[in-house]
Amino acid sequence: MEALMQSAPLMISGIIRYAAAAHGDREIVSRLVDEPTWRHDWASAEERAGRLAQALIRLGIGDGDRVTSLAWNTHRHLELFYGVPGLGAVLHTANPRLGDEQIAFTINHAGSRVLFFERNFLELVERLRPRLEHIEHYVMLTDAERLLDNGLGASGYEALLAAEEGGFAWPLFDENRAAFLCYTSGTTGDPKGVLYSHRSVVLHAMAGGLGGALGFTAFDAIMPCQSLYHATAWGLPFIAAVNGCKMVLPCDRMDAASLHSLIHEEGVTFSGGVPTIWTMYLDHLARTGEKPGTLRQLVIGGSAVPRAMAESFQRDHGVAVRQLWGMTETSPMGVIATPTPKLAAEGEDEMDEVIWTRQGRMQFGIELKIVDEEGAKLPHDSESSGALLVRGPWVIGRYYRAEASATDADGWFDTGDIATIDRFGFMRITDRKKDVIKSGGEWISSIDLENVAAACPGVRIAAVVGIFHPKWEERPLLAIEPHEGSIVTPEKVKAYLEPRIVRWWMPDAIVITPVPLTATGKIDKKVLRDRYRDHLADADAV
Ligand code: ADP
Repeated sequence: MEALMQSAPLMISGIIRYAAAAHGDREIVSRLVDEPTWRHDWASAEERAGRLAQALIRLGIGDGDRVTSLAWNTHRHLELFYGVPGLGAVLHTANPRLGDEQIAFTINHAGSRVLFFERNFLELVERLRPRLEHIEHYVMLTDAERLLDNGLGASGYEALLAAEEGGFAWPLFDENRAAFLCYTSGTTGDPKGVLYSHRSVVLHAMAGGLGGALGFTAFDAIMPCQSLYHATAWGLPFIAAVNGCKMVLPCDRMDAASLHSLIHEEGVTFSGGVPTIWTMYLDHLARTGEKPGTLRQLVIGGSAVPRAMAESFQRDHGVAVRQLWGMTETSPMGVIATPTPKLAAEGEDEMDEVIWTRQGRMQFGIELKIVDEEGAKLPHDSESSGALLVRGPWVIGRYYRAEASATDADGWFDTGDIATIDRFGFMRITDRKKDVIKSGGEWISSIDLENVAAACPGVRIAAVVGIFHPKWEERPLLAIEPHEGSIVTPEKVKAYLEPRIVRWWMPDAIVITPVPLTATGKIDKKVLRDRYRDHLADADAV
């Protein structure tokens, strides 16, 4: 029997229309490349996103056309997040930290017709231009006075908006239509396109704000330090709007001192990003003796959060860390580590232990299971580890322009991660399939080793990779980047590890070196593996 309720489609434009109507004067503050800080509010953002949609329509952009942004965390990028999908087109958020070849690959693969870029990417875009196959219009994200001379025929963003009359009537269409095209960072081959729908983005935004997830209220001021181009900054621009939060956008200045000043000046209560950013911020607090002001919570993910980091934020600064696990293919929210009554009943110590060492617990909308090599479901006993599979309305079905489905017949997507689940329903990633170290038929978790090593005094970043060993097939190599001014030696690290790990997990090599990072700020294990490929080749094979 058909239900008799209204069936208005879930539209991304509905989010900003709501924010403008219900929280219109809630502020949006944005730092910019070489321009003074911009201040406006959700009402103005909605008006300007509408003008952007009108301008794009004037340029001939319509249903399903792709538009690329090469942009930082600014209010203009935020307007692209709403204006482009709002008119029925698709926003491809290119990652400027990739190499030229990969950036060009994603823009061509997306088939984008318009490219919006920051002023300080002019040189990059001029370099890319001969390779860009479908771009017809270039737009520099700047005001009229600062538009740089360029050989691209690029117009300026503010001039484009000023030429429109505003009052855009946001169209309604099928909620399953494409809205965003986000590429995986390509750590294992060419980047793959994940095509989010209006429906998936809206559901993700509604679920993300729930108390058991990120728990925002209209009193929060949210500062995303995960890049807007990386899986839509984990949906924060939408989750914030749904909850009427203030937004603070740091542009490309994610150094600790800049973030600290924004936190204090703008009363930021909630921020997030990959662990490397928050390692820097903790360093800054320790070095300067300053306090994190109004900041009450951080969502950290993208790679494992070292226990020492979560503990230090909580104990030393009263800032709760909500670890998030997810991936571009999951929009990206998969699990988030927030307490439950069952866990709280175990007492504070047990609760802290679980919250600080697990990636998180199941969220409404996402189903999880772990399976063995035959695909049989494994128990939730925190011991059995297996391939992590997920499914749900904001999980990928098929990669953009791929023929085959990305899931099995029942809709389960294999994440490529290895995990355990405990009796409280908390999931712990023990490794990515490609990072797990296979030593003499046994597995060593690189994440577990990193976690212990990261707590060694003086260590800033600890990275573990498996490298070839003539006897054991693979053995762990530990790369350590010390804090500035700290003297850390391999002997000191080894002595620290000895009482804390099982003997056979002890890395065969400990090297003190700057740790390379990927385009999304994660430890680049591929580079480390290549660099140290033969490091143990002469080890005793007997
Ligand atoms: P890429 O796959 O190119 O790194 P993604 O950002 O989509 O790009 O990365 C998703 C992967 O990042 C996950 O599959 C997982 O291995 C890792 N990851 C994300 N969050 C966490 C976390 N909290 N703990 C450990 N690993 C994580």
